[in-house]
Amino acid sequence: MKSVKFLVLAASATLAACSQPATNESSDAARVVNVYSARHYASDDAIYAAFTEQTGIAVNVVAAGGDQLIERVRADGERSPADVIITVDAARLHRAEQAGLFAETDFSDLTSTVPANLIDPQGYWVSMAKRARVIAYSNTRVQPGEIETYEDLADPRWRGRICVRESGNAYNQSLLASIVARSGEEAAQAWAQGIVDNMARPPQGGDITQIQGIAAGECDVAIVNHYYYALMVNSDEPARQAAAAAVTLFFPNQETSGAHINVSGAGIAANAPHPAEARALIDFFFTDEAQRMFAELSNEIPVNADATWDNPTLDAMLPFVEDSRNVSELGDHNETAQRIFDRVGWQ
Ligand code: FE
Repeated sequence: MKSVKFLVLAASATLAACSQPATNESSDAARVVNVYSARHYASDDAIYAAFTEQTGIAVNVVAAGGDQLIERVRADGERSPADVIITVDAARLHRAEQAGLFAETDFSDLTSTVPANLIDPQGYWVSMAKRARVIAYSNTRVQPGEIETYEDLADPRWRGRICVRESGNAYNQSLLASIVARSGEEAAQAWAQGIVDNMARPPQGGDITQIQGIAAGECDVAIVNHYYYALMVNSDEPARQAAAAAVTLFFPNQETSGAHINVSGAGIAANAPHPAEARALIDFFFTDEAQRMFAELSNEIPVNADATWDNPTLDAMLPFVEDSRNVSELGDHNETAQRIFDRVGWQ
């Protein structure tokens, strides 16, 4: 049965990487963990390699977009070879949870390492790194102090001045869901309407495109995830570096709700053929070694307060006050957020 599953996996066109156990004298049956991941960050291969080296457990990675990944595991049902499901954004974790993809797991032994608001209350998933969705503004056309909150961006003073990506993007859905959670649906809709009224152009591109829009003079402010700015600061491309240098990254709501944060999360698959190996990998994500790789290679913010790392670009953004609600609430309000986006015509 195991070999059949493995063949199905190996035949997959989307099989992105297959690391072998470190060469060692042990000839026990090879231990493996099959990871279905929607992440597109540099840290992960390094983390899997370190895990394999330390445990002898090989990591097979199937990479796909977040929603495709969910669809695929769901379609495979009980035959799914997935052991660990990893995705970014609490909205997608919620979708995977709703689709019944995760096994209920006792993560209580992680509570000394991971803040409680980053663990799913029902035990379906746990967050291994954080990201903040913040504001970038033009160094020349916006004065420090002109913006203090996300709410400020809905003010008519910003008419024609905001760049932001499409509402189909989970990052924006979760930002709006956070406003629904703290201020209610009506206030959240008024905010979204204000942003649509203030857009400099129809939503297009990813978060880097929004920062480039400011640098090109198409807009004065943008809503972006913090790590895209860090990527641009450290880019080999002079144009990207120059675009980052034209903006200031600003962490809003420091006197109120805290900056909106989102997470990368993982859970054990409901039909995991290798649940013990799955748990071992998830535990490994919280070691100092893995937490450091999230910070150093992906510019993500570790969840383990004791983690240490070397990343001056990230350190320049820290510390900041963050929204401390349980991130699972972002999933709870995701459908409301999508309805609001439709109603206000946020493309
Ligand atoms: Fe991203």
